[in-house]
Amino acid sequence: MSDDCIFCRIARKKMKNEVVSEDEETLAFRDVNPQAPTHVLVIPKEHIERLTDLGPERAGFIGRLVLKGVEVARAEGLSERGFRLVLNCGAEAGQSVFHVHLHVLGGRKMGWPPG
Ligand code: AMP
Repeated sequence: MSDDCIFCRIARKKMKNEVVSEDEETLAFRDVNPQAPTHVLVIPKEHIERLTDLGPERAGFIGRLVLKGVEVARAEGLSERGFRLVLNCGAEAGQSVFHVHLHVLGGRKMGWPPG
């Protein structure tokens, strides 16, 4: 846990967020600045700055994070119409919060390639 990380504070319930699901390892909550009708972030409770900090020994963790995103999308009624899972890594990819998080986006038609 890092005291100056906003997502660590959210994981510790120090902030008011709309939590949509929680388990021992992850917390899912609605993005404060939604980019689609459904925009949920799934974060590990553990402070991990970026994807490149993870090695092969964490493959199970990444698999569970993605499956949690799919579970959130299903609960949001998006499994048939479609949804997008996004993991930004590093400034040029648009990562602004340096605590790994999975975006679950859906409820509108998505463009490709991403801007
Ligand atoms: P990224 O740009 O991939 O690092 O995504 C960070 C996301 O966190 C953005 O979509 C922000 O809108 C979102 N965000 C930042 N602060 C909060 C907060 N306090 N509560 C909910 N979402 C947040």
